[in-house]
Amino acid sequence: MSAVLGCFNKQAQKLLKIHLASGFQKYLMWFKGKLQGNHVALIQEGKDLVTYALINAIAIRKILKKYDKIHLSTQGQAFKSQAQRMHVEILQSPWLCELIAFHINIQETKANSGKGPALLEGCSLLVNDGKPSLSCELFDSIKLDIDLTCSICLDTVFDPVSLTCGHIYCYMCACSAASVSIVDGLKAAEPKEKCPLCREARVFEGAVHLDELNLLLSRSCPEYWGQRLQTERVERIQQAKEHWESQCRAFMGVE
Ligand SMILES: [Zn+2]
Ligand SMILES: [Zn+2]
Repeated sequence: MSAVLGCFNKQAQKLLKIHLASGFQKYLMWFKGKLQGNHVALIQEGKDLVTYALINAIAIRKILKKYDKIHLSTQGQAFKSQAQRMHVEILQSPWLCELIAFHINIQETKANSGKGPALLEGCSLLVNDGKPSLSCELFDSIKLDIDLTCSICLDTVFDPVSLTCGHIYCYMCACSAASVSIVDGLKAAEPKEKCPLCREARVFEGAVHLDELNLLLSRSCPEYWGQRLQTERVERIQQAKEHWESQCRAFMGVE
């Protein structure tokens, strides 16, 4: 399971890196006249990757169910929950969340340009009673619902990160939960710091920035995004100032 997940994560990261390439790199690709070809290949690869994740997830579920049925045991289900605890369950991968956001982003640009094949059906950004979630209807009655409300500020996640336990928070909220400043970042978090939701330790260091989701949310709710950007800017400047002042004090031996 780890090998399957590792392969999926690596490929998804590579794909999303190409999609999120900076303007200049995109311009270069366009200049070479390859952008259209690349674009279609990119969508196809994204589709293949999601299919890979789903087929593996479904296969594993079926195998474990069958195992329990034949052996009249609960070991299969126990294995499943153990896999979830060890974060090797492919449906929990933050990269799957990124691929779904990627798919919706691509579809939106497709609606504007009117070309390119669709990636997956049934993926959407839903808002229920002001609570946003990323929803994906998968075949074989598996439905994926990713909650996009930050359980710290209780608002839509802004500048989202996924901790290794799979819980998603605003980057700034995650920093405060990990007792680190934005300047130091989540990598500086102590191993003992826990996820506020599941109370699991060592979840901050390997956190993944969800850039595609960020893009999708900033497009979907521009007003909210503008507001959060403004408050965050003030907070960032404040924290940078405090950081700098404490560095100065430390340097001069005041502390
Ligand atoms: Zn938050
Ligand atoms: Zn958690």
